[in-house]
Amino acid sequence: MRRKVAAGNWKMFGIKADLTEITAIAAAADPAVDTLICPPATLITAAVPAAKGTVLIGGQDCHHLPQGAFTGETSAAMLVDAGATHVIVGHSERRRDHLESNEMVRAKAEAAIEAGLIALICVGESLEQREAGTTLVAIATELDGSLPNTSTAANTIIAYEPIWAVGTGHIPTPDQIAEVHGRIRAILRQRLGDEADGIRILYGGSVKASNAAEIFAAPDVDGALVGGASLKASDFAPIIAALA
Ligand code: 13P
Repeated sequence: MRRKVAAGNWKMFGIKADLTEITAIAAAADPAVDTLICPPATLITAAVPAAKGTVLIGGQDCHHLPQGAFTGETSAAMLVDAGATHVIVGHSERRRDHLESNEMVRAKAEAAIEAGLIALICVGESLEQREAGTTLVAIATELDGSLPNTSTAANTIIAYEPIWAVGTGHIPTPDQIAEVHGRIRAILRQRLGDEADGIRILYGGSVKASNAAEIFAAPDVDGALVGGASLKASDFAPIIAALA
């Protein structure tokens, strides 16, 4: 039985005053669900005590090397030192804005795992790929290229985030989500054998309280990676509850 995951990606939102939201999310956390918030790197250290031990705290990206002359970068070891347990890698905004290739995402995921973090690896098709009918091929290429050989059920989570659903209010149908999650599970099995059955696959893209139950009812959906609706406890708590 895979434990459900309610993950929040705060992106470039949040200052110290918003740590009260993390404490409020902690109050709404359910023991049956892994609740994770990935705030901006500036807040990780302060987010850990605010999370009261019931919300896990993660980073939104990491460098693939442990240290070095890389201005502006944060290593996986630094995230661990700050108190993070997880890190998102390969988010579509990083792939788009920082030209991150599958090879780079894979190197970051390997570094995260090596440092003892759980790597939350994102994949997702563009609108053009969806409309051209090449979604499953695009997902297969991205996942196969981004997945480390060292991935296990304990150190890796996959997030399926269709790019056209991120921040748009548009979501795939439950059947479309199930189709992609099934394909992801099959690729994981090819690469990792039986270990694949324990890896959590999250859906992300315009998840909110009003659509969460329908999305979570789709087969092979083990939780959500939530952007906008994770910023306020009043929006995120019902999503956690829909998974419990
Ligand atoms: P939204 O939930 O705001 O669509 O963002 C999804 C996302 O990108 C989470 O990583």
